[in-house]
Amino acid sequence: MRAGRSPLVVANWKMNKTAREAAAFAEEFLSLRPSLPDAVGVAIAPAFPVLERLGRLLTHTQVLLAAQDVHTESKGAFTGEVSAPMLRDLGVSLALVGHSERRRDRKEDEASFARKIERLLENGIAPLYCVGETLEERDGGRTDEVLARQMTALDAFGSLPAGLVVAYEPVWAIGTGRAASSAMAADTHRQIRSLLSKRYGSDLAASVRILYGGSVTPANAVSLFGEEEIDGGLVGGASLVPADFAALVKAAG
Ligand code: PEP
Repeated sequence: MRAGRSPLVVANWKMNKTAREAAAFAEEFLSLRPSLPDAVGVAIAPAFPVLERLGRLLTHTQVLLAAQDVHTESKGAFTGEVSAPMLRDLGVSLALVGHSERRRDRKEDEASFARKIERLLENGIAPLYCVGETLEERDGGRTDEVLARQMTALDAFGSLPAGLVVAYEPVWAIGTGRAASSAMAADTHRQIRSLLSKRYGSDLAASVRILYGGSVTPANAVSLFGEEEIDGGLVGGASLVPADFAALVKAAG
């Protein structure tokens, strides 16, 4: 990562870990924390029902509580959904928007991501906006076009959304064991930063952290996080094991 942007490693637990399992993780991870670099920000996004218990365990630890999603509206008749004010009350400070599994399974689009980001900002929660192309799109030479379309979710904002973090997650690398090469990821991060520059100018764009996600492991993290353009990671599988997640935090330092 580049000087001036602090590294960040975010665990996306997806639909894994009960509250009890999360507590066991927290105990073990927090025991390793003193040996990890202070300069690396760490956040954990458990499933919604686990937020409260994990949040209590993370109080005063500097490990941030994150959410995996948020609804487009603040309240109302939306059975099964969770709003930004509810997340704020639980102490959530960062929330994923646009994860590829939601794009795929829920057919969500950029207009709804923009509304989600608005709700988060209204509640003082930083958005972690996820973008990335499928294998078919990369092989078809359409990565630029896909990223440009996905980044239009930010068009609703005249100024840089407070605390915005972007995650580049090539869909073909998520959960497949096939991470992007450091060079390919860094190159795509540069493209994303140039899309941010067009909206907010190069100085503000240079301040935005862009994380890489997709089969990050302790074995490839040093090389990925060593790239100037890669400011840390959004991590699924390898974030479920305390020692592995700790190794990723170390690699980001
Ligand atoms: C993710 O889903 O955000 C992710 C990066 O998963 P994994 O690390 O398992 O590829």
